[in-house]
Amino acid sequence: MEHQHTETEIAKSYVADVYELVKKRNPNENEFHQAVKEVFDSLVPVLAKNPKYIRHGILERMAEPERLISFQVPWIDDHGTIQVNRGFRVQFNSAIGPYKGGIRFHPSVNASIIKFLGFEQMFKNSLTGLPIGGGKGGSDFDPKGKSDQEIMRFTQSFMSELSKYIGPDVDVPAGDIGVGAREIGYMFGQYKKIRGHFEAGVLTGKGLTYGGSLGRTEATGYGTVYFVEEMLQDIGLSFADRTVVVSGSGNVSIYAIEKAQQLGAKVVACSDSSGYVFDEQGIDLATVKRLKEVEGKRISEYVTEHPHAQYYPGCSNIWSIPCDIALPCATQNEIDEIAANLLVSNGVLAVGEGANMPSTLQAIDVFHENKVLFGPAKAVNAGGVAVSALEMAQNSMRLSWSFEEVDTKLQEIMKNIYRSSVEAAREFNAPGNLVVGANIAGFKKVADAMISQGVI
Ligand code: NAP
Repeated sequence: MEHQHTETEIAKSYVADVYELVKKRNPNENEFHQAVKEVFDSLVPVLAKNPKYIRHGILERMAEPERLISFQVPWIDDHGTIQVNRGFRVQFNSAIGPYKGGIRFHPSVNASIIKFLGFEQMFKNSLTGLPIGGGKGGSDFDPKGKSDQEIMRFTQSFMSELSKYIGPDVDVPAGDIGVGAREIGYMFGQYKKIRGHFEAGVLTGKGLTYGGSLGRTEATGYGTVYFVEEMLQDIGLSFADRTVVVSGSGNVSIYAIEKAQQLGAKVVACSDSSGYVFDEQGIDLATVKRLKEVEGKRISEYVTEHPHAQYYPGCSNIWSIPCDIALPCATQNEIDEIAANLLVSNGVLAVGEGANMPSTLQAIDVFHENKVLFGPAKAVNAGGVAVSALEMAQNSMRLSWSFEEVDTKLQEIMKNIYRSSVEAAREFNAPGNLVVGANIAGFKKVADAMISQGVI
């Protein structure tokens, strides 16, 4: 007992020292600090039991990206004016496979955001059980209001530089906020032109006519719901007849709504960055898909077609709507302590993070203290990158699987992620805490591979 106590104290002080180092080395990068803190704090039991991870300096090495590339992206807008944006690619860790992670185009993108996403990605990719390392990229380019020609010119300029650092066995980007099938298509075309090779496996989320996988578009949203269904079934519940609130109305949200509805739930609200709609009869997904995927309109337009529904400007109040299941699928830190308390006081049973880091550390504490089933992003939304890895596998074999084949594999992967998170939480004395479970399960595989490969 005494011995165990000492090991825990040593692990705690190691974690605290490395966390201080991360803050000192990356000043003012609050999102990155937050992501590191969430993971590091939950690793104390595994470090106490396996001091080899401390001896091998695993946390110091994991918290420092293997490579961080920042580059200029010049382009010419429709008025003939030269614009300059900043591009990033962070290659965090390649211990278990080539770097893999999405590209985000959003004005808020900076080194902190890209590093938090890349850091998370390393553990998420490990959790999928597939051989992919962690990376992420993006630009502070704002796609809103840009013409198709402007999107193409910007994206080509972005890829002209990025192409120097990626490849099917090196680093394989995909989409994220602001980057969908259109942007991936332009990036793929530019990469092919520069390299003079048709290397399908260099990007995922491609169109079906040039190497994309059926089921990739749906994967993150469907996977989110599959994971939450596993959590619910463990206590004898399911999505059927439950009231659900989903934030966002982009790729993840739309397919989370679709799968939740297929499982018999009533989704009563969704949002965009301007506001949210509440439809007590249940969101009409066909309208949302058309407005967002086809016409590029604001979610406020929903109420002109469904006048019984209400639109509210601003995003955070969406969490004041009473629901059984909350699926934050928009962006980071969208659920703070106040929103978490509101959800709890309205009786929420389960929260599944479709977006990356949508809950603050304080919000997660509120969910845990109130025994809400809480599924953390790196486990819940791993279905997207898992199907991306399946896309890479199909590209290598020059084969295409059916939608059903991909969907069956996705369901299996989400079940395995849930199981391994539950088991790791139990093994390390935190039963039911999937934050701890997912972090430890993701960590161990990467850490062991790093030790095997030596200090390189
Ligand atoms: P998306 O298609 O671009 O949709 C993003 C949605 O979130 C839009 O409705 C957007 O509204 C809203 N949003 C964006 N920034 C916001 C902000 N600051 N405040 C409020 N709402 C905001 O992106 P996505 O691919 O669905 O990604 C959503 C989240 O899931 C992100 O956290 C992403 O990292 C994560 N994720 C995505 C995947 C994937 O495969 N796509 C995989 C894993 C995780 P507007 O239309 O007004 O901008």
